[in-house]
Amino acid sequence: MTARSSLRSLTLPAALACAAIAAAGAGCSSASWPWWKSPTTAGPGAAPPAAGAAPPVAAAEAAPANIEGVEAVAAAALASLPVRKWRLANGLQVITAPDASARSVSYVTTYRVGSRDEDAAAGQTGLAHFCEHLMFAEAHGTRGPGRFDRQLEALGGSGNATTAYDYTSYTDDAPPSALEAIVRLEAERMAKVQLTPDEIEREREIVIEERLQSAEDDIDGQLDELVYGQAFRNHPYRWPIVGRMADIRAATPDAVSAFFARHYGPERAIVVVAGRFDEGSLLRAIAAAYGSLPARTGDGPGPAVAPERAPEREVRASITRAVPADRFMVGSPAPGLGDPDRAAYDVLDQLLTGGPSARLPRALMVERELASSIDADVAATRDSGLWTIVVQMRRGTRAESGDEIIRRELARLIETAPPLAEMEAARNRLETDLWTELGSSHARAEVLGAYDATTGDFRTLVELSAAYARVSAADVSRVARTWLGSGARSVVVAHPHPATAKAGGNDPAAAERSAGGTGGGGE
Ligand SMILES: [Zn+2]
Repeated sequence: MTARSSLRSLTLPAALACAAIAAAGAGCSSASWPWWKSPTTAGPGAAPPAAGAAPPVAAAEAAPANIEGVEAVAAAALASLPVRKWRLANGLQVITAPDASARSVSYVTTYRVGSRDEDAAAGQTGLAHFCEHLMFAEAHGTRGPGRFDRQLEALGGSGNATTAYDYTSYTDDAPPSALEAIVRLEAERMAKVQLTPDEIEREREIVIEERLQSAEDDIDGQLDELVYGQAFRNHPYRWPIVGRMADIRAATPDAVSAFFARHYGPERAIVVVAGRFDEGSLLRAIAAAYGSLPARTGDGPGPAVAPERAPEREVRASITRAVPADRFMVGSPAPGLGDPDRAAYDVLDQLLTGGPSARLPRALMVERELASSIDADVAATRDSGLWTIVVQMRRGTRAESGDEIIRRELARLIETAPPLAEMEAARNRLETDLWTELGSSHARAEVLGAYDATTGDFRTLVELSAAYARVSAADVSRVARTWLGSGARSVVVAHPHPATAKAGGNDPAAAERSAGGTGGGGE
């Protein structure tokens, strides 16, 4: 029902993945990517496949030429698989990643619109996600509500959708024989989806339920929302992708329709097709189905956004929840996906949190036995985002002592370049996880679309492997100093209710006073 990655032991709402079968009512969950990072808390048995795992190899076909209405933009290779980018006159971009060894095809439509395009000052958070749900609505009378899913299922396919800070995407997985029908269905959905008041009210209830499940009833959803909310002062990453509850309840049909009309046009979309298909036939079908759609000439992207390296200083909050022992999240400034520092930062994250023998799990879980789990995520954002670490402390231990070890390990990394063997292990692990994840057409299509929408060029993904290989120990220390050296961080601690905290010695109130703290509540 959800797009949650099985690779992650714990997921954070860096993106919300919604099952296509929205009518089921609870088909959405939070997800996080890059998905290829293995869970820190996994035992040795859950290690990634043997090193050197590579994506399937297929003979690269020659690029089709002279297709009317389709202009070639860029070409590259993902390992041995060709990846090409094309453009239609109305601005629609198409990325093709054919793989003759695949048995199915994945068709992903990624729109360059996300929660960053919302106007929070006008009380309009959550509109990008709301529109994502409505894309499954009736399209100009040719399909009844939900019929998009039913038609896809009738073709032997299945679908899901995701809203993120910087983009929204729709994925269809289907047998190759269904591809031309999917092209027509998706073009119709882009052109003709109808946002009726009835449809909006129906989806509003589903979205409210989703917010309750992913943000309000979920401890990590709460921590994430508070950590981001107090870290950013102005940037749209400060409000949750799913939106504030008051805004979801108050969203008017006019506001939803205006947001949709402004953003959902061919000039904001990237169609990514990966798997088994004939490239020339596909491009001709796309040109025929989408070529006549006019580029929207409205206001363009949402309010201008200035990137913000957040937080500026240390900000802290604490809450009381039904947790067995202290659970806390630390958010530190992190480079965006296209930032030149990003590869070294990913290696830094691996060194500290990537697997049971990484520095933080070793120090917190093995040597001191202070924590029972730890997980981390570097946000896959266009602008600077956050590197978040979530730690579950053991009963009778305090968040403060766990956080002290995180600070100590960061200081050590800033002062001393990591040994070569440790660097090698971290780089290999990143590389292995990357290729393992990109082994399916489904993931290749989604990740290519997400990288292109987020960084402006899918080749950022193509070059990632080489970028990891170039990261030196000195780079890791420099990046640690640059991004983490100031000690600015956003910390939120969830303490157990006093009745839950059976172990003695906890004094949450005393533990969490700090200068400059903002107190709980966030946005
Ligand atoms: Zn949803």
